[in-house]
Amino acid sequence: MKFTILISSEDDSSVPFMVAQIERTGTLSAASLGLTLAESKGLLANVQRELVESQVQCLVEKQRICTRCETRRTIKDYHSVCFKSLFGGVNVRVPRLNGCSCEGKGTPPKTVRIDELVNWVSPELEFIQSKLAAMIPYTRTADLLELMLPVDTANAPSTVRRRALSVGKRLDTELHKSPDMIDAECSKTNTGPVTTVGLDSGYVKDCRPRSEGSFEFVVGRILYENNNSRSLGFVRTIESNSAAGHRLKQRIREQGQITDGITVFTDGDPGLRCLLMSALPKATHILDWYHLTRRLTVLKRVLLGKEAIKQFPTDYHDPLCKHLESLKWRLWHGYIGGAINRIRAILFRLRLPTIAGKHVAVRMRRLIKELLRYLKNNQDSLANYGRRYRNGERISTGFVKSSAVNQLIDNRMSKSQQMRWSPLGAHALLQVRAELVDGRLAAVFSRWYPGFAGHSQGLQVAG
Ligand SMILES: [Zn+2]
Repeated sequence: MKFTILISSEDDSSVPFMVAQIERTGTLSAASLGLTLAESKGLLANVQRELVESQVQCLVEKQRICTRCETRRTIKDYHSVCFKSLFGGVNVRVPRLNGCSCEGKGTPPKTVRIDELVNWVSPELEFIQSKLAAMIPYTRTADLLELMLPVDTANAPSTVRRRALSVGKRLDTELHKSPDMIDAECSKTNTGPVTTVGLDSGYVKDCRPRSEGSFEFVVGRILYENNNSRSLGFVRTIESNSAAGHRLKQRIREQGQITDGITVFTDGDPGLRCLLMSALPKATHILDWYHLTRRLTVLKRVLLGKEAIKQFPTDYHDPLCKHLESLKWRLWHGYIGGAINRIRAILFRLRLPTIAGKHVAVRMRRLIKELLRYLKNNQDSLANYGRRYRNGERISTGFVKSSAVNQLIDNRMSKSQQMRWSPLGAHALLQVRAELVDGRLAAVFSRWYPGFAGHSQGLQVAG
């Protein structure tokens, strides 16, 4: 059997163009039933080339006609460009048109161009490459696209990287260039108030030589009353506190409004608190219970470890365990004074001559002193967690940890991966990832390229 696939334009009477010929000989087998991937790639590439060439030709013909006197302009010269798309590169000859005689002498020649098309890269190629690159490494993005599609140009890992990062930079510039809107003005158009903001920080490996090994990023989640949420992320060294504050406020205003009743959760990092308090001065700050309890868990693990049981006599070990339990109870109920007293009691016990010199006691003293410093720094942000919990109120940025951090960082940029990052690269990619996890990347592209349909519009097939 032999199939010939032709395409013809309904707008002109040119001869149908053959895009593919598919031949099947011999017995039908599982492998020869239907179209193969290689055939489909060739088919797509040929259709793409024919479409692009015809569309550009049509545009050139339109632009040649002078809008004032309807005379056809002459062509000064041509230059060649390659239109890069998911379905291959198409070489196109783009003419420069001489000025029309009605425009007077000395009118410079004009190159035929397509609105919003930058460097002859298809927005869809840019979208798919940056979407995948935000999820999987650049090399794998390039491999995957090459495996499935006839994308034969502009798909090297370095190009994928450059394209994804340029999308991130554009998002970043767009956000920082948008003016700091006045609250009253925004509240008219916005849908609902923001209830909670959570910020958390983490580290990614630094790729720069002579660097300190890793650098800090911040991710956050904004929750609106109508259950919508918005993510944000930035690299600490790239963004100043005031710029980060602007980012936070812009994100809040995109869907909601800044009200006085916002609750803000952080891990107690002084820089993060500072940022939040300057951006949202009227917000209530609460130290995240998850971070607080994690420190207690570490202490408990040391105290219940084999080493501690071996080194501490029972009449020392048991009271320490009880003290630790009651410390947790006091913190849960927001008795900060009582909690600090309990910490002092633990420190006193750990300094008793029988155990003071033991390795475990030294380690525990260091941990408990850190905890004391942490609590003192965040004294005014400790809540009655028990009461909040019983009232069904939030006590933790667990929503940041489990959603924003995991979605924004863990899979793609986590320290456990062998990936190393430059602060600028990580910052730019975080912008793409934030839009991706919020399900807004396609909407961003529609804003940049009017008519861009993302994945929402399918092929129209005649019934
Ligand atoms: Zn004219």
